Amino acid sequence: MTDSTLKKKRNHLMEQLRTLDPDMLRGSLVKTYRRCGKPTCHCTREKGHEGHSLSVSMPGRSPIMVYVSLKNQERVRQALENYQTAQRIIEDISTVNREALVKKEIL
Ligand SMILES: [Zn+2]
Repeated sequence: MTDSTLKKKRNHLMEQLRTLDPDMLRGSLVKTYRRCGKPTCHCTREKGHEGHSLSVSMPGRSPIMVYVSLKNQERVRQALENYQTAQRIIEDISTVNREALVKKEIL
């Protein structure tokens, strides 16, 4: 018995999933302003020192914010992208499975 086209497609997607970089993060990188706490710093009068934080939405509560140092920004950006890639592949697998369900195929 030969594999169906859908099964081949799904196997191909699973292979992509397996080779993904596990360094994944859900959320987005947002600009934040922090006060450093030094009483003489200009940030006590102005909006604070510019930085970036990882903002992760949580259902039913306010988002989790994690400060990201300049050193880690590129890594976080890549991890956010890796997460998006994984999501896209999982969505494609779901589409294949749904098509199979419509065609009453068992993969
Ligand atoms: Zn300051």
